Amino acid sequence: MTPLLELRDVRAAYGKITVLHGVSLSVAAGQVVALLGPNGAGKTTTLKVAAGTHRAESGRLLLGGRDMTGANPRDLARAGVCLIPEGRGVFPNLSVRDNLLMMTFTGRSREQIEEIAFARFPILAKRANQAAGSMSGGEQQMLALARGLATDPAVLLLDELSMGLAPLVVARLYEQVAEIAQQGVAVLVVEQFAAAVLGIADHAAVLVRGRVERQGAPDSELRAELSALYLGSS
Ligand code: ATP
Repeated sequence: MTPLLELRDVRAAYGKITVLHGVSLSVAAGQVVALLGPNGAGKTTTLKVAAGTHRAESGRLLLGGRDMTGANPRDLARAGVCLIPEGRGVFPNLSVRDNLLMMTFTGRSREQIEEIAFARFPILAKRANQAAGSMSGGEQQMLALARGLATDPAVLLLDELSMGLAPLVVARLYEQVAEIAQQGVAVLVVEQFAAAVLGIADHAAVLVRGRVERQGAPDSELRAELSALYLGSS
């Protein structure tokens, strides 16, 4: 099966400092791939390359087998790539409804967008008139996901969804992410701490200093390697 998203041998740098040294990854439709690794490993940069907001020095970016290397963020968004950045990117002073309303740029009506959002996250309907910034972190992350879903993504890129959230909230969010994937979306999730996402991931890649050190099923061996990595003993 052709992967929906594929990065081939991607090198990326900030100025003269290379931070990705040939990263290869692929995500199929319906699959959740976890990209894990310590601080500064290059996880966010990998997502930025996939979303076109950071240009790779070399390597290829393919979407559904089509070469999109060098495409700008707008063209990649049009092709179905949606990045939900760390920190969620919701507008705290706007109501939930207005945060969703802004997504009408996608060509969908307010009603369609609210239907998608509220069907997936019913709590957002209850909070519709509340300022996004006054909601809990978990609810804000739901709103960020709902805004992403309004774009009808083929590829969803999630950066540190768990940031600042309680484990139970994270587990519930990841259940939703798994359901989104089951509908045929290719999901690439970046996390520093792995446990929650490994519960739903079909495949995991461990990035260390800009290199994929290991990838495979999120089995006990991979979990053991990750704990060793975070304890600094590998
Ligand atoms: P974190 O969890 O800390 O975000 P990460 O694995 O996502 O880590 P990146 O954010 O991709 O890592 O950063 C990889 C390296 O690139 C780090 O050394 C970081 O300091 C550096 N870096 C990231 N963004 C920039 C930038 N805009 N300019 C210069 N260096 C950067």
